[in-house]
Amino acid sequence: MHTLPNGIIFFERGWLSSNNVLLHDDTQSILIDSGYWTHAKQTEALIKSALQQRPLSKLLNTHLHSDHCGGNAQLQDTFPNLETLIPPGHASYVDNWDAAALTYTPTGQHCPPFTKTGVLHDGDCFKITGKSWRIHAAPGHDPHSIIVFNENDGILISADALWENGFGVVFPEIEGLSAFDDVESTLRVIERLNPKLILPGHGAAFTDVKGALWRARTRLEQFRNSPEKHSTYAAKVLLKFKLLELQKSKLIDYREWARSTQYLQILHKTHLNAMSFDSWFIEQCKSLEKSKACAVNEEYIVNIN
Ligand SMILES: [Zn+2]
Repeated sequence: MHTLPNGIIFFERGWLSSNNVLLHDDTQSILIDSGYWTHAKQTEALIKSALQQRPLSKLLNTHLHSDHCGGNAQLQDTFPNLETLIPPGHASYVDNWDAAALTYTPTGQHCPPFTKTGVLHDGDCFKITGKSWRIHAAPGHDPHSIIVFNENDGILISADALWENGFGVVFPEIEGLSAFDDVESTLRVIERLNPKLILPGHGAAFTDVKGALWRARTRLEQFRNSPEKHSTYAAKVLLKFKLLELQKSKLIDYREWARSTQYLQILHKTHLNAMSFDSWFIEQCKSLEKSKACAVNEEYIVNIN
């Protein structure tokens, strides 16, 4: 456990929901990211218990993946005066809700529709408990992602741009758009900020930033040298994410979901895969089983961990 300055609460969640950070003082409270929709009630309970009777005043999303903003609708219901600020890149798709452009349809995930009241630009700054938090653009994992840096205490909310062990799937690469250079430029931004402590989008808080940057760059180099490694990683992440949601599924239902998931179809076709979709799907499931992420038999697939 890392000791955080007064007014900062880090909620480390399971992998289905992103972590949440709550900043609060006597006059305002700001939540960064709201988790996955199936955990929305739990997110609400965590916030309410931390704020006692006070309302949540602002909600910021680092990016609009379903595991980072799935609780937005619930929190907007609970706190009617809540301001919701998002990165500008996808703002128009939120205003005219477009589940395909927001990637919920192609990933086979769900996010209850929410509204926004404003956007977060690179360089924007806000103050809370007398500390300055600055927004930095952090493309790569998602072209529109931002990270948030506390300039007084050197604390970085890194979203999925940097974890203790790696970083999130580089989603534009799935669609054939090159984005590995963006990942590297974002790692350079983080290096330049020189944070003392990182509160990542998933996993525990950590202080060994040098080590994390080294591991991220090593991983990035592997992906650059063998893009099929990134494709396999992406496929496994999408499959595991759904399994975290379902916990247990009939294998035929799970396969139906996979067949109808556009990104899995693209990933199967990448690198001239000669295997049929169904054989490839089973191979990915077996590989997840080998890494102890699930158990699979003729009839069922069950999530582990
Ligand atoms: Zn993400």
